[in-house]
Amino acid sequence: MNYCYTDSLTGILNTAGFMKQGTSLCEKNIQTDYIGLFLNIKGFRYINQRFGFTYGDDAMRKYAQRIQKLLLPDELFARLGCDNYALLVKKERVDTLLDSLLSVRVHIQLEDFVNTFDLSSRAGLYTIKPEDTMNDIINRITVAGLLAKSSPHHNTIWFREAMMERYIHNKEIADSFISAIENNEFSVYYQPKVSLDNQTLCGCEALARWDRVSEVIFPSEFVPILEQEGSICVLDFYVLENVCRDIRNWLDTGIEPVRISTNFSKIHLHNKNLAKDILRILDRYQIDTKYIEIELTETCGYEDFESLSNFVDTMKAHGVHTSLDDFGTGYSSLTLLKDLNIDTIKLDKSFLSQSPNTTNKRTNEIVIKTVINMAIDLEMQVICEGVETIEQAQLLRSLHCDAAQGFLFDGPLSHDDFEKRLQTGRVYHKI
Ligand code: C2E
Ligand code: MG
Ligand code: MG
Repeated sequence: MNYCYTDSLTGILNTAGFMKQGTSLCEKNIQTDYIGLFLNIKGFRYINQRFGFTYGDDAMRKYAQRIQKLLLPDELFARLGCDNYALLVKKERVDTLLDSLLSVRVHIQLEDFVNTFDLSSRAGLYTIKPEDTMNDIINRITVAGLLAKSSPHHNTIWFREAMMERYIHNKEIADSFISAIENNEFSVYYQPKVSLDNQTLCGCEALARWDRVSEVIFPSEFVPILEQEGSICVLDFYVLENVCRDIRNWLDTGIEPVRISTNFSKIHLHNKNLAKDILRILDRYQIDTKYIEIELTETCGYEDFESLSNFVDTMKAHGVHTSLDDFGTGYSSLTLLKDLNIDTIKLDKSFLSQSPNTTNKRTNEIVIKTVINMAIDLEMQVICEGVETIEQAQLLRSLHCDAAQGFLFDGPLSHDDFEKRLQTGRVYHKI
């Protein structure tokens, strides 16, 4: 066995081995007999978290062995790292093989019993062209594979050339992030939250803006990219720190701030010290915890839910409010919600029907009403995002929704415009 070309955990090829053996196929000009595949195992992290790394390693080895057994001697299979794999399989076999590659059953021996898992994967696929080198092939399967990995709808994605342009663009964004932070290209905007009872400013949300040399990039573009890279965590703390600095300045100049929420990506939930890290920043700026709220989006797995719930409890114990952002767009079930000590639910703007169709409107009203009543029963506050019309605000008020955020009142405001609001514009006369 040549150790330079072998993955030490699974015994199959590593990236260098895949490159070497693939290159000899290219030299023989037979690479077009193959389809390139990138496989990523879904949620493998949970196996490590739940059973520990020894069993995780065992599952990984068995997974690789199972797949290797499905392949012909002249097909290639390699571990690229973590839970990412690459394959070259014969064109005519892909259709029949794919299902078996996407769901692999493994048995691991725990102390006193055998646990059986079905490890499901997502795949990126690529039809190899005669001029392709192994670099081209690996790049293209990886691009399609990463798209499949982050797709909520597709387990398999075939590579198209347009994906490469998108990938390069996204890579540029990811690569310029750290220097953008250092050059202060990010700024914080503040979007007011308005109490529906008395139409006064009752809080605001901090939203990041990236002013690049020639353009402003909006979070809908950069947040998903930074989330994939993990660098969103740096941005979230950067925003929190700026918010704390602004609050400190306002307090020092005699301007009473409102509670300001900042968005924290769910990726932070893997950080066991998240609560401590946040509290340390508040402490550094001597900010009373009543001025800060942390917005988190819904999570999908139970493990994530547990981390979310622990984080919320710690924040609550220190007087920091938490809210569940974009409620209604994710996976959280109402049964989970009752076990969460969250202070506020933020109804997503999709709850607000723009449709003139009376039946749709009626259905939406019933849903909003039910969620608001449930939140009241659970002693949570409710705020609705994306409120754009007087009619929507009136409806929300009649259903006892506590607050609203949206263009009807204000869009996200620059620091100076928001400061004016704090000083002289706390009352809105909109509804
Ligand atoms: P979000 O937290 O749900 O923030 C609300 C988004 O809705 C903001 O978009 C806001 O500008 C937009 N919005 C506000 N009022 C209205 C309205 O009346 N109508 C409509 N159609 N839209 C409205 P923005 O600023 O582009 O942010 C998009 C998302 O990016 C945010 O959604 C949040 O999830 C994320 N985001 C923004 N800043 C950060 C950040 O610093 N960290 C993290 N992790 N995520 C951030
Ligand atoms: Mg938010
Ligand atoms: Mg939201």
